[in-house]
Amino acid sequence: MKKNILFLFVLFFFGCSSQNQILLNLDTAKKLVQNYYESGEFDKECSTPIEEAKKELQKLKLNEKSLVVFDIDETALSNYNHTKEIGFGYVYSLWEEWLKKADAKAIPEVKKFYDWLIERNIKVAFITGRNEETYQATLKNLKDQGYVKFDTLITRNSSTKKIPAAEWKAQEREKLVNKGYEIVACIGDQWSDLVGGNTGIKIKLPNYLYIIE
Ligand SMILES: [Mg+2]
Repeated sequence: MKKNILFLFVLFFFGCSSQNQILLNLDTAKKLVQNYYESGEFDKECSTPIEEAKKELQKLKLNEKSLVVFDIDETALSNYNHTKEIGFGYVYSLWEEWLKKADAKAIPEVKKFYDWLIERNIKVAFITGRNEETYQATLKNLKDQGYVKFDTLITRNSSTKKIPAAEWKAQEREKLVNKGYEIVACIGDQWSDLVGGNTGIKIKLPNYLYIIE
């Protein structure tokens, strides 16, 4: 997550035409976002696409190589506490420090979905835009939050960090397929987690904190 982040709360537009836009005060917008995350609305909005995907997965003939790809930030783990602490923004150095603390909490609906997959012997892989310097902290954070069983955790390294997110994730999925996995679903909070080949069922979670393009 780097410079190409747009913070959604900066502008809230009501109406569709450019002549009909209402600009919200930034403090008001932040309060709306905070309320959304802290009132249970966020969890509710996560559960809908997950429940739909579970129904679709139950219709498939799965095997021992069936795999679901999870994104990490704002998917398996929530960075909401950090984002809120810094006043809903993004500072690269603080972000890196936060990741190294390994203190992000599991998103409950996503963790339940993970448990549901593990119970059914469906394999899990994590593909995250986090860089390899945070690999150990990320591994610890995942395990501490109960994501203990998975086949692989893939982070960015120096040779892949400049590739656009969607392209890089598609490349990594292709490598998994070449290893014999059958990707039956992908879950992520960004469309860049879900475009390109080898996605299977796409599970798009809400994210009102930032966009990665
Ligand atoms: Mg994410």
